[in-house]
Amino acid sequence: MRYLSDVLKEKYGEKIYRLTLSSGCTCPNRDGLVAYGGCAFCSEGGSGEFAAALRPIGEQIEEAKALIANKTGAKKFIAYFQAYSNTYGDALRLEKLYQEAISRPEIVAISLGTRPDCLGDDILAMLARLNGIKPVWVEMGLQTADEETAKRMNRGFSDECYADAVRKLHGIGVEVVAHLIFGFPGETREDMLNSVRFLAALRPEGVKLQMLNILRGTRLADEYAGSPWRLLTREEYADLIAEAVSLLPEETVVHRLTGDGKRDMIIAPEWVKDKKRALNAIRRAISRDFSSPARA
Ligand code: SF4
Repeated sequence: MRYLSDVLKEKYGEKIYRLTLSSGCTCPNRDGLVAYGGCAFCSEGGSGEFAAALRPIGEQIEEAKALIANKTGAKKFIAYFQAYSNTYGDALRLEKLYQEAISRPEIVAISLGTRPDCLGDDILAMLARLNGIKPVWVEMGLQTADEETAKRMNRGFSDECYADAVRKLHGIGVEVVAHLIFGFPGETREDMLNSVRFLAALRPEGVKLQMLNILRGTRLADEYAGSPWRLLTREEYADLIAEAVSLLPEETVVHRLTGDGKRDMIIAPEWVKDKKRALNAIRRAISRDFSSPARA
């Protein structure tokens, strides 16, 4: 198992920081193309609560850099477009925007959060061209491979659509960072591990794992208020993570082991607000099987 921070340090010789940027895209699962309302767990911010408002990309980069560099002296960055679906829109407009970001000397790679149903031929061609300049990562949330849960969560695409998207991205040499969420209502531990097995078979270059956060203003929050279900404890989650990472391919890089949700948006579980303690519990669980510490 390898952690992203180590991989980046090895590759670039220094710590690499993320700049959270906005492309101005929306999401077809919110605007009605696929569905209205979005995934049940997604807040109005489109799973990117920290994204900057849409302004010229150069301005966004300078502002985000100033915030980080003042505290850390950081010099190299990943341009991270997290909120909504960043390949959903006009390919020409998006290519211009991403090219502007990727061409800057301080940007070492670009990471685009999106959905597997937003990868038409024009978008794939754009990604291939950008990837010829600097590495492009496409981040896609599978969240669960249980189709029943996916339906209940209004995910809006099938597992096969997801698998097909991963194959297409691999076909053009673009790296995939897959997201999984543990703790959906009704899912057993075995269901969650089956999601990991499904993902492992697709051999994503990276994974982000996280506990289901019940966020204010979401459909899930209403359901939870009406009929709360039992959430995983910190220790149960840590044990699950330890087993999950043992099922992933050796070369898959772990980008995240627990979420970074905005504290005042989180209704439950309470323990996710203390990331340090969560990581400590995960470290203990993993150390039963691995000798390296958890840092993601
Ligand atoms: S696909 Fe992403 S942005 Fe769209 S509703 Fe689901 S979580 Fe939110």
